[in-house]
Amino acid sequence: MSYLYDLIAISPHPDDAEIGCGGTLALLTKKGYRVGIIDLTDGEPTPFNENPEVRIQEANESARILGVDRFLLDLPNRELLDSIEARMKLARLFRETRPRIVVGMIGMTPGTSPDHYQSQLIFDSAIFYSRLSKWEKKFGGLKPWLIEQSFYYYTAREQVPTNLPFQFIVNISDFFAIKKKALLEYKSQFKAHPSYNPPIIDWIEGMGRYYGNLAGCKYGEVFFGNKIIQMNFFEHLLTN
Ligand SMILES: [Zn+2]
Repeated sequence: MSYLYDLIAISPHPDDAEIGCGGTLALLTKKGYRVGIIDLTDGEPTPFNENPEVRIQEANESARILGVDRFLLDLPNRELLDSIEARMKLARLFRETRPRIVVGMIGMTPGTSPDHYQSQLIFDSAIFYSRLSKWEKKFGGLKPWLIEQSFYYYTAREQVPTNLPFQFIVNISDFFAIKKKALLEYKSQFKAHPSYNPPIIDWIEGMGRYYGNLAGCKYGEVFFGNKIIQMNFFEHLLTN
């Protein structure tokens, strides 16, 4: 069986993946790679959005701008918990979509949604469940799927564990404008907050500039790895 997606990003809510790695997703699709986003929840309700359908439309428009396919797992927003059911649902989608690489959000986010950290736990377990043999019955006959690599993206709200072996930065200087355009589709989240100062989009731009500067480019996105990899692995994906 061969893979169907080069990379899939797992997003607790529609917009988290775009914040953390939207530039990288746009870069990959521009190079012809097949990329997807799995939203674990629909992200609703939120304070300034009256209609969950609006958020879904925004998410789909953002995906169109980035050139990615989008899947909704429909786990409960605000009540997301690392459970066997949640792990199995995500693992099942991994078996169906067969990604080579997956990226998920990392760490606890004190002061914002606890769903974020739960998504990391679900993500880690689902990668494992996806490849387990002798579980076809639990997955409706779907065969095991071995994901080659996994990384974490970062949105600058998380407390990052310091014991991770490595981090790297992807140069998204040519793709920050697309990332920003995709994010601005989320009017219910980023344009409807007159009380937020500075605007969320400014913070995302600042984060991009900060990580870009660290790596000697204008805009960057940082990824964390939980195990040592061959140097050429991700680089190969990004440059070929
Ligand atoms: Zn979120």
